[in-house]
Amino acid sequence: MKNSLVFVLNCGSSSLKFALVDTKTEQQVLSGLADSLGSDSPILKVKYNGNKESIDLASGAMHQMAIDTLVSLLKQYQLDQAIVAIGHRVVHGGEKFKSSALITPQVIAGIQEVSQLAPLHNPANLIGIEATKKIFPSVPQVAVFDTAYHQTIPEHAFLYALPYQLYKENGIRRYGFHGTSHFYIAQQAAQMLGKPVAKLNIICAHLGNGASVTAIANGLSVDTSMGLTPLEGLVMGTRCGDLDPAINHYLIENLGYNQAEVSVLFNQKSGLLGISELSNDCRLIEESAADGHQGAQLALDIFCYRLAKYIASYTVPLGELDAVVFTGGIGENSDVIRANVLALLKIFGFTLDQEANLAARFGNAGFINGPTGPKAIVIPTDEELVIAQDAIRLTQSVEQ
Ligand code: AMP
Repeated sequence: MKNSLVFVLNCGSSSLKFALVDTKTEQQVLSGLADSLGSDSPILKVKYNGNKESIDLASGAMHQMAIDTLVSLLKQYQLDQAIVAIGHRVVHGGEKFKSSALITPQVIAGIQEVSQLAPLHNPANLIGIEATKKIFPSVPQVAVFDTAYHQTIPEHAFLYALPYQLYKENGIRRYGFHGTSHFYIAQQAAQMLGKPVAKLNIICAHLGNGASVTAIANGLSVDTSMGLTPLEGLVMGTRCGDLDPAINHYLIENLGYNQAEVSVLFNQKSGLLGISELSNDCRLIEESAADGHQGAQLALDIFCYRLAKYIASYTVPLGELDAVVFTGGIGENSDVIRANVLALLKIFGFTLDQEANLAARFGNAGFINGPTGPKAIVIPTDEELVIAQDAIRLTQSVEQ
């Protein structure tokens, strides 16, 4: 194995996703997930060379143990010596980080400083950074921020209509997330459209368990649907997205909720799951809706309606529209949702090529628009590749 692998880590509060990316071939050599960390039955799942392996971790195991076990496997496969850089997905960079950063004590302090904006995510990201530093002390590490790509959003789009002081003194504003994915999609869309990224105007819908839509003008993010936290915007798997903020008060004052319960309600019990009373899994929602499940149908209708409204509103910051792009687990696979959303946008002249819509699934990219109207494209995202490429770029810039 040539020395060209980047170890990419994405540490959540109770999970850890990882990949070993070969930046020369742009392929993932190995990938996997440690899940249910801190529970009675945490598990490590690894995909390597076409084989899938599951390892039960000790009860209560957290990130460090998962990473230690994973690294033992890497040693067994003789992959550890080929790792030239480590790239960490860091959820919140606040206004401090406008691009990826080589990890230094100052950068760690900066990530800690913005942790209050993402108390569930940034501390977990820091645990991942510390754990890999212990195991690979001489390998450079890079932080890639979910918020960084959105730092070009202008003030009139990122400010809430709250007293200005709350922004100046407390940093309360729209930050946006999924930046790595939206950035990657902009590069890919430019290639598919045969345009320089600097002249690209698209609306990118990243639809996964978390979902956000971004207006991209001249290759830069100019508005996005997630806000101070990843709760705002679209209907998601279990998150509610946009709400009247007074609902929070109503639940507490009139229905006896406490603040922690409201947070669980908005983040974990709402969205597709809450409306359908069935599941947060879009595949199951679609199958059930097709079988006549009314809750599932309603969840789909609300999901598509909210998304179409966002896409329509993002024509405002774009002078012209080259394409609407769908990505993420749902965007890359759900021909049903894509067809429904484009139908809701018919005022803009969108038409659909249903054969192309069915072909652009399961990892296949493609144009799905009909012969008239604006373009619509499906592009599989690859956040790990962006993280790996940034890790290599920043590492090499230091070496030179
Ligand atoms: P992600 O968070 O990007 O991995 O996306 C997860 C979401 O993608 C889940 O809601 C899945 O149900 C959904 N998804 C994956 N495959 C399909 C499919 N073939 N049809 C509809 N939704 C899908």
